[in-house]
Amino acid sequence: MAYKKFYITTPIYYPNNPPHIGTAYTTVVADVIARYKQSLRYDVFFLTGTDEHGMKIFREAKKRGFNVKEFVDKQAEIFKKTWSKLLISYSRFIRTTEKDHEETVKEILKKMYESGDIYKGYYEGFYCVDCERYYTPKDLKNELCPIHLRPVEKLRMESYFFKLSAYKNKLLKFYEENPEFLPERYKNEIISKVKEELRDISISRPKKYLEWGIPLPFDENHVAYVWIDALLNYVSGIGYRRNEKEFSKYWPPDMQLIGKDILWFHTVIWPAMLMSAGLKLPKRILAHGFITIGGRKVSKSAGARSLDYYIDKFGVDILRYYLVRKFSPFKDVEFNEEELRSMTNAELANTLGNFVTRAFALYSRYNEILVFTEKHHLEVEEKLKNAVEKVINNADRFIEELKVKELIEEIMRVVFMLNNYFNEKEPWKLAKNKQYEEFIKVMFNSFETLVHIAALLYPVIPQSMNSLFNYLGFEKPLKIVELKEYGKNIDFRRIEKIKPILFAKL
Ligand SMILES: [Zn+2]
Repeated sequence: MAYKKFYITTPIYYPNNPPHIGTAYTTVVADVIARYKQSLRYDVFFLTGTDEHGMKIFREAKKRGFNVKEFVDKQAEIFKKTWSKLLISYSRFIRTTEKDHEETVKEILKKMYESGDIYKGYYEGFYCVDCERYYTPKDLKNELCPIHLRPVEKLRMESYFFKLSAYKNKLLKFYEENPEFLPERYKNEIISKVKEELRDISISRPKKYLEWGIPLPFDENHVAYVWIDALLNYVSGIGYRRNEKEFSKYWPPDMQLIGKDILWFHTVIWPAMLMSAGLKLPKRILAHGFITIGGRKVSKSAGARSLDYYIDKFGVDILRYYLVRKFSPFKDVEFNEEELRSMTNAELANTLGNFVTRAFALYSRYNEILVFTEKHHLEVEEKLKNAVEKVINNADRFIEELKVKELIEEIMRVVFMLNNYFNEKEPWKLAKNKQYEEFIKVMFNSFETLVHIAALLYPVIPQSMNSLFNYLGFEKPLKIVELKEYGKNIDFRRIEKIKPILFAKL
């Protein structure tokens, strides 16, 4: 049976510095979405990677005394290592210096050239090396880059241009016919800007000015502008040219997750390029706000600590949980260590973790009574069953609507409900008073609900839920779609007699 495909991307990151909490935010959220889709039986392709050309990388490598290629090789390894530590389950990690990507960029640019959409001219503007883009005088804030608040460089050079202005009506028509494409929050802003000021864009720079890039297929003396090169990673990443079968299976992207600072590139330039090259357009661009520390966007220059520091300090699952639990497609969110501590202590350690420890302790103590229970004595508690089924039935819709945070809140409501159920029924007293029939019912429903929670939380906190599945007697984690009907999953004979501690209290 062929499953529905789901192609999700993150932006690719400049590897001049190691990943930080800001890049982790986007990447963890994308990973959680990819894992949910997998759990719901989609055939998922999850792409992330590094953006390795351009002036910024070139200068950084030189500054540190490296050959540029050696520098990006080293930096890309750091990214891969950190993502593996954070349990990021990408299908491919693409690097824009890879051969198949370079060939793809040339081929797409050739198509755009042949469509008559590329011409030669001169470019003059204010360039921010950190953004790798030009600004007009009116974009600047006190003559500084509006994002980085640092000086820009005035540049004039020969350049090839993409006739973006010719796509005005096509873009507006596309937005209208595909209301899901633009992120709701920024829709009006983008549409009015396209109506008012759509200009052609520079897509190359002379090789004598910058060698570190992909040569244009129609003029070897120019290299592709790093953004044009970078955007095409979404095309090369799933095998355009290299693997036609894979490409036609996954193209176009179903969800492209980006930060709000790169909206214009992804919602205007990107679809116009694809139109020019004759490729289908992505279904949705989803933008989120920045993650801030002390009110400022997190970046290396803002003095943020390394991601390794946070992973080592809090643990993978706790960090993943907090980042997703804070996620907002609408506003900036503040990363606050104090809040991280109190939130994860309350929700993970004190509620879920504590419940697991107590339930397993009781199971171990009265193990003999439980393992000899006959199947027909296992009675389902309707309110727990209904609560679990409701979350499962809504999970895909929540993910589609980018309500990742809300989905976790729904799951946590079931965790709290289970905790209350356990406390109200007091199964330890039932066992002590030899009310075994009721005791078995409470234990059975507790563990049955728990296995559902484990499957539902696995995409967010895979490390601890993997352990929980093992304790519950499963060799590997169950996908949501692999869960049997409520009441049919737990086998008391397979549960381990241990007292697990899932989350260390911070
Ligand atoms: Zn900038």
